[in-house]
Amino acid sequence: MSYNIAVDGPAGAGKSTIAKLVAKKMGIVYVDTGAMYRAMALYMLRGNVDPSDEEKIIEKCKEVDVTLGHEDGQQVVYLNGENVNGLIRREEVGNMASAISVIGEVRKNLVAKQQKLAAVTDCIMDGRDIGTCVLPGADLKIYLTASSEVRAKRRYDELTAKGQECDLEKIRRDIEERDYRDMHREVSPLKQAEDAVLVDSSHMTIDEVAEKILSYCEKKA
Ligand code: C5P
Repeated sequence: MSYNIAVDGPAGAGKSTIAKLVAKKMGIVYVDTGAMYRAMALYMLRGNVDPSDEEKIIEKCKEVDVTLGHEDGQQVVYLNGENVNGLIRREEVGNMASAISVIGEVRKNLVAKQQKLAAVTDCIMDGRDIGTCVLPGADLKIYLTASSEVRAKRRYDELTAKGQECDLEKIRRDIEERDYRDMHREVSPLKQAEDAVLVDSSHMTIDEVAEKILSYCEKKA
């Protein structure tokens, strides 16, 4: 049986940074499920699909094969065989991902792939529905959150460090809008699983959060 850690929480809570670090320290694989929704979203953006046109999205989603692989220890997401890692991090793609992930048909196929992967791989998987839906039997579940102000500031710093121009207030609004949609959708809304440990990273460093998660792993073991 594989060892699985589920990490859920809103955008910008630090899930991927922390999960990567924990994966490295534990020698297990990091699985970023958001990248799969983003790859699907990229396909829709390329096809100029209206994010509110559910019928069209369901139809287009049948043309898409999203798979995960690993190259040089890094997760790679393939969209119909094309490595799209470098194309999925834009805000526009994140917002489209949030819009299409409300649709059950979009989720079904990706969730099945995530479950298959976790069944044979010791991994820490992050997303919105990992503890509640994808891996309900995970060995450890973490719900990682932070205030929307802190999350917006982190995103702002990340983007400006990359030389991208952005507006802090707009980022905060987008984050809150995305949280609302993720938490209120009918299918697999973002929520803390009953048996998940709540970690608020607003006033914690990355290392402090990683240490906390590692200490929960030890406790469980
Ligand atoms: O985590 P990330 O910001 O990359 O995810 C992009 C979007 O994909 C999220 O806002 C969410 O709507 C969707 N998502 C999801 N379920 C997951 C992972 C991501 O609905 N397991």
